[in-house]
Amino acid sequence: MQIAKNSVVTLNYEMFDLEGKQLDKTEEPIAYLHGGYDNILPLVEEALEGKTVGDSIDVVMEADDAFGEHEPELIRTEDKDVFPQEVEVGMMFEADDPQTGDVLLFRVVEIAGNQVTVDANHPFAGIKIRFVGKVVDVREATGEEIAHGHVHGEHGHHH
Ligand SMILES: [Zn+2]
Repeated sequence: MQIAKNSVVTLNYEMFDLEGKQLDKTEEPIAYLHGGYDNILPLVEEALEGKTVGDSIDVVMEADDAFGEHEPELIRTEDKDVFPQEVEVGMMFEADDPQTGDVLLFRVVEIAGNQVTVDANHPFAGIKIRFVGKVVDVREATGEEIAHGHVHGEHGHHH
């Protein structure tokens, strides 16, 4: 069957920067619910429309269409005492954005003395991305998956 709205698509992918450096790769295939549920990058979803098992896609995206531009205002430095004692580089913390009220996910990028620097940019923000994917399975979503807006079962969402 061809990928269409409410297909559950299972795929393997690799992501590269435009110098050809590999940024990410699936160890296990991922499954997502196709059809505008915001489960995958929109241009990747568009390229997968109509594809079937065994088909490949190769999509090059501007940063803005991939993981966003790198925004300097998403980097903040705070006193260490606002963090848990065991804080270390690579830990993730949620915080409200005072401007928008959105919850942002900050990654600790540096600890220097009593100062902790956190960054809410995606690690691939500001990078043009080449996404190479291969479809390994296509099936129809269940009514429950459509109602939830995500995939259940193998490679999917567990409640
Ligand atoms: Zn669910």
